[in-house]
Amino acid sequence: MLGLMQDRPLMISSLIEHAAAFHGDTEIVSRLPEGPVRRTTWRDIGERAKQVANALAELGVRHGDRVATLAWNSDRHLALYFGVSGTGAVMHTVNPRLFPEQISYIVNHAEDRVLFFDITFAPLVSGLASSFDSVEYFVAMTDREHMPDVPGIPADRLLCWEDVIGRQSTHYEWPEFDECSASSLCYTSGTTGNPKGVLYSHRSTMLHTLMAAARDTIDIHSGSVILLVVPMFHANAWGSPYTAAMVGAKLVMPGPHLDGESVYQLMKAEGVNQSQGVPTVWMMLFAYLDEHPEIDAHELGLRYAGTGGAALPLSMIERFEKDFGAEAYQGWGMTETSPLCVVGRPLPKHDALDPADRRSLRLKQGRGIWGVEIKIVDDDGNRLPWDGRAFGEVWVRGPWIASGYYRGEGGDKLDGEGFFPTGDVATIDPDGYLQLVDRTKDVIKSGGEWVSSIDLENAAMGHPAIAEAAVIGVPHPKWQERPLLVAVLRKGHSATREDILEFLAERVVRWWLPDDVVFVDELPHTATGKVLKITLREQYRDHELSQPE
Ligand code: ADP
Repeated sequence: MLGLMQDRPLMISSLIEHAAAFHGDTEIVSRLPEGPVRRTTWRDIGERAKQVANALAELGVRHGDRVATLAWNSDRHLALYFGVSGTGAVMHTVNPRLFPEQISYIVNHAEDRVLFFDITFAPLVSGLASSFDSVEYFVAMTDREHMPDVPGIPADRLLCWEDVIGRQSTHYEWPEFDECSASSLCYTSGTTGNPKGVLYSHRSTMLHTLMAAARDTIDIHSGSVILLVVPMFHANAWGSPYTAAMVGAKLVMPGPHLDGESVYQLMKAEGVNQSQGVPTVWMMLFAYLDEHPEIDAHELGLRYAGTGGAALPLSMIERFEKDFGAEAYQGWGMTETSPLCVVGRPLPKHDALDPADRRSLRLKQGRGIWGVEIKIVDDDGNRLPWDGRAFGEVWVRGPWIASGYYRGEGGDKLDGEGFFPTGDVATIDPDGYLQLVDRTKDVIKSGGEWVSSIDLENAAMGHPAIAEAAVIGVPHPKWQERPLLVAVLRKGHSATREDILEFLAERVVRWWLPDDVVFVDELPHTATGKVLKITLREQYRDHELSQPE
């Protein structure tokens, strides 16, 4: 017997309709690539999204067509998020930090018909335009006054945002269609091989959004003032543009201005009380505060600093707590998982823990949220126990987990039970807290045992002189591989190899101790802000370990 409830499709357009109707006055603040800070509201974004929809119709974009963006976080990008998907077209957020040839590859692979770009990317677009086979129109996201010169694009195909969007009607009826229709497309950065496309649907996005807002997930509500540091070209910016619309939160968007000073000023001026970003952005903020000891970061009133994409170091948890009075927590997931899978929030029973144990708990990536089933398996695919000790590859299943890649790239991914392989290795404890040991391709195998690079990096970053650290496996004649620590020192600090090893010796088991420490000015990063270990491994392949045992 079927229930008698209305069968209404879950549509992304319903989010912006809701935000405009019930939270119309709530502000959206963006620092534009052009420089100034612009204030708009959910009501304005609602109107803009409808203008985008009308403009796309005029440009001949139809249901299912792909529309690309090369853009920072801003109100214009937000209007595109809703306007493009709302019409039934597919919003393809292109990561501008990919190599230019990868950008050409994915625009052609996606067959994007229109490309919206921030003026910062005019030189990039100019250089690549002739390699884009399918793009008919290029829209510079600015006004007439700031229109860039973009050699390589014929004048009739280069449009100005204010002309093409600004003159449209703000009336538009959002269409209703199958909720499983594609809504957005995001390519993984692909450290090896070509990037692969993850194609989200209206249904997957809406279910992910509902769960993202929950108290134990990201805890977003109408009182939230969110600094969206995570770029909107990463995994739909962890769902927050949608979640903020669903609950009417205020969004503060930094555009390209991610240096410590700009981020600090924006947080202060706008009363930001929660924020999301990869740990490296917070390191820039900390470096700015190091240079300005007169600033008391408590004045910000920040409550939560959410991180993801890389492990949250203990030193960062402590610093947010001590200097900001804020709670840092992490989530784990990937582009293929929309991205939220687990979130590291304490349970009520943890209230009784002493502060140091509560902090240690936050080093775990977190507990599964409803909608995501998780298993860890051994090399033969057998499920491993949730005892906090056994570790194996993490597989996930759920309505916002990819079933495969766009246009079948990479082949069938799911196992017989429909789980997706994440390529991450973790333990899960009896409370369901998942703790990442490594990515399968980064694990260090020493004498048949595994050394967790994540744990070692965490321990190293606890040293007051270390700003950033990466641990890689280096070939070793006896042990197969041994860990090498590559570290960046904090400005104005010094430390020797011996200092660091002595510090680590008190924190990790003896056989985990790196065989050597190398200091560098900078670590290589991927387009999504992770340390590019593949490059480090190549660079240090022949590194003479100082203590061959
Ligand atoms: P990429 O294109 O580099 O895969 P993603 O943003 O999809 O980019 O990255 C997902 C990966 O990031 C995960 O598989 C995991 O290895 C890593 N990651 C995500 N969150 C965390 C976290 N909290 N701690 C450690 N690693 C994380």
